Amino acid sequence: MALFDVYSLNNITITKANGSYVWDNNGVQYLDMYGGHAVISIGHTNPFWTARIKEQLDQIAFYSNSVILPIQQELSEILERVSGKKDYQLFLCNSGAEANENALKLASFHTGRKKVIAFKKSFHGRTSLAVACTDNPAIVAPVNETDNVTFLPFNDEKALKAEFEKNGKDVAAVIIEGIQGVGGIVEATPSFLKLIRSLTTQYGAVYIADSVQCGYGRSGQFFSHDIAGEDADIYTMAKGMGNGFPIGGILIAPSIKPKIGMLGTTFGGNPLACAAAVAVLEVIEKDNLLETAKTRGTYLINKLKRVNGIENIRGRGLMIGFDVPEHLSGLKQTLLYDFFVFTGEAKPNVIRLLPALNITRKQIDEFIDILEEAIDSLTPKAPPAEEVKEPTSKVVAELK
Ligand code: PMP
Repeated sequence: MALFDVYSLNNITITKANGSYVWDNNGVQYLDMYGGHAVISIGHTNPFWTARIKEQLDQIAFYSNSVILPIQQELSEILERVSGKKDYQLFLCNSGAEANENALKLASFHTGRKKVIAFKKSFHGRTSLAVACTDNPAIVAPVNETDNVTFLPFNDEKALKAEFEKNGKDVAAVIIEGIQGVGGIVEATPSFLKLIRSLTTQYGAVYIADSVQCGYGRSGQFFSHDIAGEDADIYTMAKGMGNGFPIGGILIAPSIKPKIGMLGTTFGGNPLACAAAVAVLEVIEKDNLLETAKTRGTYLINKLKRVNGIENIRGRGLMIGFDVPEHLSGLKQTLLYDFFVFTGEAKPNVIRLLPALNITRKQIDEFIDILEEAIDSLTPKAPPAEEVKEPTSKVVAELK
């Protein structure tokens, strides 16, 4: 049976991974600057993580969600400590879309309202409510909930105020990425997030912080939204949470009180997934990876700023993007096929870097050297000296 080609696959078969490297079936080594799309937080096959999962596998791999599993309790405790979020409830699910779907549904139950404010170029997942809040025409089906969603320009305080003044009493939720990922690495400004907090509070709406890509330490803060110094009502998580083991979750503020039965899923809170998520947090804590993400991120950004040919270097922690001019539009493929480096992309002509939070300085240096070479290989060369044409009389005249 043919596998459905979900993402227009690169013609590469990966069979092994370790830290920030992966290998294909021919033994070729690739540097992973993409972290499997922000999923690899503590490095591929981190030995601490594999040991934790194996230990759990030998104890219990699954039981129905009708009993208490100590590993779930352990996860909620360490998550509270590392995230600093007290008094929230944790609901565990299996993916980012599922986390957002449940967050949006809860907001609607909580407020009794239907309208959602989302933002241009946002990405929240492919399930029905999540996709309805996603501004990407390629994935929004004709049958959807978009009628209830208003897409406002990102970081536009005036538009947000105007929308609340007009429709505020009908708004169930505002959903926003702290740093837009698929949209091309664009940070929400602290003042915009503060305004979302104050308007949602004023109008009784729910502030949903989609932290699926920008959360779990990637920005150097556990939740990137917290740069504004305000708590969200719901944080959604997935990607980096399991370092490759499928798990998602939402943190629910005490003001929101889901009734039993509103939230649930057979596999959510699976013990192996919880063990993976606990291991990620333990490594973040013991190796001080929030700080590492900050310092290595700054190191990478400073190095990128010295690379000729790329523009608008931006991001926070290890969630970094830059623009490439038209003649470098093949850079991602060149990096992959000629230089064996995985990076990410966003349209048009944005390269995204989402490496493991413990990528080393040496690996960053390696990437920068390769990037310069790749750019050089794509840059049209001036013709050799003997072929230089005589300047025209007009140019000669201007030179004089
Ligand atoms: N939210 C954001 C910000 C994302 O980047 C993604 C995935 N790219 C999702 C939600 C959806 O997550 P998943 O693919 O796990 O459903």
